[in-house]
Amino acid sequence: MSISVLIEKVIKKNTKFIIVTGGVCSSLGKGVLTSSIGVLLKNSGYTLSVVKWDPYLNVDPGTMSPLVHGEVFVTDDGAETDLDLGHYERILGIRLTKDSSVSSGKIFKEILDSERQGKFLGRDIQYVPHVVEVIQRRLLKLALGSKLDFVLVEIGGTVGDMEGIAFLESIRQLRMKLPEKQLMLCHLSLVPYLSWANELKTKPTQHSVIFLKKAGLAPDALFLRLDRGIDLKERNKLSVMCGIEKELIFEDLTLNPLSKLFVDLEKQGLNEKIQKWFGIKKVKKTDISGWKKLIQVISKAKKILNIGLIAKYVGSNDPYLSVIKALESAGYLQGYKVNIELIEAEKLVFEGYGSAGSFWKKLKKVDGIVIPGGFDERGAEGKILAARWAREKKVPFLGLCLGMQIMLIEFARSMLKLKNASSTEFDKKTKYPIISLLEEQKEISIKGGTMRLGAYPCYLKSGTQASAIYKKKEILERHRHRYEFNNKYRNMFEKYGIVFSGIYKKENLVEIAEFKDHPFMIGCQFHPEFLSTPLKSHPLFKEFIKNAIKTSKR
Ligand code: GLN
Repeated sequence: MSISVLIEKVIKKNTKFIIVTGGVCSSLGKGVLTSSIGVLLKNSGYTLSVVKWDPYLNVDPGTMSPLVHGEVFVTDDGAETDLDLGHYERILGIRLTKDSSVSSGKIFKEILDSERQGKFLGRDIQYVPHVVEVIQRRLLKLALGSKLDFVLVEIGGTVGDMEGIAFLESIRQLRMKLPEKQLMLCHLSLVPYLSWANELKTKPTQHSVIFLKKAGLAPDALFLRLDRGIDLKERNKLSVMCGIEKELIFEDLTLNPLSKLFVDLEKQGLNEKIQKWFGIKKVKKTDISGWKKLIQVISKAKKILNIGLIAKYVGSNDPYLSVIKALESAGYLQGYKVNIELIEAEKLVFEGYGSAGSFWKKLKKVDGIVIPGGFDERGAEGKILAARWAREKKVPFLGLCLGMQIMLIEFARSMLKLKNASSTEFDKKTKYPIISLLEEQKEISIKGGTMRLGAYPCYLKSGTQASAIYKKKEILERHRHRYEFNNKYRNMFEKYGIVFSGIYKKENLVEIAEFKDHPFMIGCQFHPEFLSTPLKSHPLFKEFIKNAIKTSKR
């Protein structure tokens, strides 16, 4: 279908677009702002979806280092995406698909694949129209895919980055083709405070707006990232210099917890102003009482619960963002503030099992241990020691993906006496490959997008801890891994007290393993953290935290 036909359909459907760009520098919280706008609209009764445009040239973040790029989030349909999609899903309580995550790499890959197939019929390929059209087509198709009142688009990076230009150009042309008030451009920018001058500075924002204008895009609304409110003088200045109505200049304050930002933006009238801007006659009020209640819950959660996260990466929490969020919300809802102790796995090996070293000291103090997902052998031995500690000392343990594999390797070594049992990911020649590749995967050598990805059904055996926790017979959870538990060893494990309580029946794969003689030692091959939200904490995390609370009182 041609772009003009798609546009006609979108006009007829009257799907509205809200585009969020960022200026001055990165890390201003465009994803959070996009989600906040979404929260207000969704709770006014509108249907919406969100798209993240990432200017980088990677096809997806699946092969990027989590230390550089943060966590890789996974959708139901198996897309490996930017962690912003996690924010959107958690905050908006919606499920997104691969169509919501678009990088320059994906766009170019599509174009070059078409070129190789001869689809350009001898013509040369250009940014305009070809690249721009591929970007627009993806967006328009998503907008037409289901009943949507709004589509929110966050453009990653900072305006002025050369990688982002094709995306800005796509918006410029789209805005030209749509009726006047069907696409709103929101620009988020930094207003720094200079302590030595005791002044807030609007100039960086002015310059970033100038850049947008050079790209043919005058913003309709301005969001100012600040630690403190601006006064009338600055508001006037920005309004005049950027050409934006004063009423459409909003403060995007640094607020904690995040839900306070929704309340603050609501107070500034954002919800109603957006609706009015789009010409909606019957402006609807938003109901964010659930989020207001959460603020109360969080403020009351004062008792501290220490959870050890045994990690390969330390230095930034971003690689483990969804896990940490899931732990925190499970804590709040039970009156506890979760303190995450990020413990570098390798150090546990250097110091020696149960030693008096500083990393072990930290580990000995925690009320629960989590081993999150991970790849390759680095840190594996340290994680195995932490799992042993949890098993022997009966510390509540939750193993996520790699964490389950680690739990079972440890069990094989200690309880089944399979010396040096391992995963073929860590040791290709291991005598006891407790975790290994499925036969059909053994020939695959490329890394991108070749894993078991996305949502798979898992059957829960009745009478197990897992079935009591989920209170269901079958669940859907998201995956991102290559290796599986080796069924050859199943009977042996069962004999020694491991219950395989969750199974992917179609291929008879282990999804959940629990240890009978332990208050809470559960590992799952999937990533429950991707489905936990602040308003609806995931049952596995809730139960893990409940057990950790019991431990803290021991
Ligand atoms: N590296 C393991 C695998 O590929 C676990 C992956 C993960 O934890 N996400 O199976």
